[in-house]
Amino acid sequence: MKVGILAIQGDFELHKIALDKLSVDSLYVRNEKELNNCDALILPGGESTAMSLLLNKYNLFNSVKKFAQKKNLFGTCAGAILMSSNSRDSRVKNLKIIDIQTCRNAWGAQIDSFSDNIELNENLFFTKKYYATFIRGPKFSNVKKTCNIIGSYHGNPVLVRNEKHLASSFHPEIGEDLCIYKYFIKMINE
Ligand code: GLN
Repeated sequence: MKVGILAIQGDFELHKIALDKLSVDSLYVRNEKELNNCDALILPGGESTAMSLLLNKYNLFNSVKKFAQKKNLFGTCAGAILMSSNSRDSRVKNLKIIDIQTCRNAWGAQIDSFSDNIELNENLFFTKKYYATFIRGPKFSNVKKTCNIIGSYHGNPVLVRNEKHLASSFHPEIGEDLCIYKYFIKMINE
């Protein structure tokens, strides 16, 4: 199995380090050829407006959309914003891969970044709690029936999946607990 990490902007390197720890083969993706060498793709956190521009510049927008029809995607923070159906911001071109709405920066500005336990609704590898880090993360709303809420924080959905795709408003690449990655790997193997 080879997991691609979109590496055009944002904190893609930490995702590679996390996958290395799990001995999962990974590949930085910057063009369609690299994308098509992968079995799944992670869209990292960063800046969704900049990533939108760069997805166009590198001709990756349609390729990622097509890839997502058959393969698994995991969007974290800015990556989740891109994957969502709408983020009510004309600077973001949504991929519309997961049927949720996202509201950018709704957990606060950079200075309001925080870490706290979130509740997991599914038993993810023996734990019902996960210590999550939020950095200018989006809030998720209008979670449609095609999606399951896997994790929430004070009643707000923060980890959502549909059949093939996973979106988190927090940063799983920060911290020691790899259970969210293990869950994504399990999704790829389903
Ligand atoms: N606020 C950023 C955006 O809207 C996302 C922040 C992040 O990925 N940590 O793109």
